[in-house]
Amino acid sequence: MDHFLYRDGTLYAEDAEITEIAAQVGTPFYLYSSATLTRHFRLFDEALEGIDHLVCYAVKAASNQAILKTLGDLGAGMDVVSAGEYARARAAGVPGDRIVFSGIGKTADEMRMALTGGIRQFNVESEPEMTALNAVALELGKIAPITVRVNPDVDAKTHAKIATGKSENKFGIPISRAREVYAMAAKMKGLKVIGIDVHIGSQLTELDPFRQAYEKVADLTKTLREDGHEITRLDLGGGLGIPYTHSNDRPPLPTEYGAMIKETLGNLGCEIEIEPGRLIAGNAGVLISKVIYMKSGEDREFVILDAAMNDLIRPAMYEAHHDIIPVTEAEAGIEQQEYDIVGPVCETGDTFAKSRAMPPLVAGDLVAFRSAGAYGAVMASEYNTRPLIPEVLVMGDQYAVIRARPTLEDMINRDTLPTWLED
Ligand SMILES: *Cc1c(COP(=O)(O)O)cnc(C)c1O
Repeated sequence: MDHFLYRDGTLYAEDAEITEIAAQVGTPFYLYSSATLTRHFRLFDEALEGIDHLVCYAVKAASNQAILKTLGDLGAGMDVVSAGEYARARAAGVPGDRIVFSGIGKTADEMRMALTGGIRQFNVESEPEMTALNAVALELGKIAPITVRVNPDVDAKTHAKIATGKSENKFGIPISRAREVYAMAAKMKGLKVIGIDVHIGSQLTELDPFRQAYEKVADLTKTLREDGHEITRLDLGGGLGIPYTHSNDRPPLPTEYGAMIKETLGNLGCEIEIEPGRLIAGNAGVLISKVIYMKSGEDREFVILDAAMNDLIRPAMYEAHHDIIPVTEAEAGIEQQEYDIVGPVCETGDTFAKSRAMPPLVAGDLVAFRSAGAYGAVMASEYNTRPLIPEVLVMGDQYAVIRARPTLEDMINRDTLPTWLED
């Protein structure tokens, strides 16, 4: 459920009228709902009620300061994958002891930053990383709390580009080698082993792959404890999918996911962490765009929008589907048309949807891409020297621009000329 609904024939974000925001801000722009962000965080938090837990929002899904602050103020932890994301989480007021650091390529500088600034734990993904972290910790006279990310070799049954839990993927250490790697970690004076980490992929639409992975983690917890390791925390990653279409097959709900976690891991006396990104932010955001032209091709009608692949790359990158709806609600019973919905960028890949049935559109109409809150704004670029589009946050009937559109001058002035080219 989200908070983007028609009222009197026009689309609202909570209690704010989207056409009004568009008139103020200009299109295209991302628009987020505070109420949806809050609701989704609480769903996860409540799903794990009864066991010691922390919901660590995966910052990479949508990392605007206002989004992080909204979630951080509710008590969310954060899962970060770079120094930049760590700095963002801290700038939004999230204390270090609620931040976990994931990712396969953490540099010594990033480790230093997090160890100095405060960190809940590092999720270590390889032996060389473990050696490097140990060295940094000893240099700083600190002890780095770690989990080791294990790769459980399960098929997440999701898009190949976002599956991470098969043995051929670059993530984690093979679960079969875990005992060996934990033994190595236990000997390092700069590290303190506290738990196990697993993350098998994103946009999972079934519980079964999670269950398979978590059962393996439960077994591993017992084995490692027998080996003498203190396993007190289990980080279960993110990955629960969201419905991108209004079809019947809906992904599992956070409550079902939480119940399965309790069933597979609830009796181990461990603190549980989860790292949802997409499910918190995805349906909390829409992308609002305007029709520039309607263009007739030989055998099809093109809708040319002012948003493009550089603003929302998911369709081009993952063949992702986004529902696209008119901001002004179509009259009941009106006949749908079939459109190819495209952006202005000079690439055929800049196509959002092919043969999409929509109510009739004309130039100047506003449309909303649903489920665009996660992996939308954060993956945007300025390809074709198109400015990064603004982000706007709604709360009730209030709205605020939370990242302004840069001017063309701002963009150009980021480049500098070498002395030999100066006039
Ligand atoms: C991407 C990622 C997440 C978040 O995944 P979602 O599908 O957005 O929930 C969580 N943890 C790690 C380690 C990730 O790489």
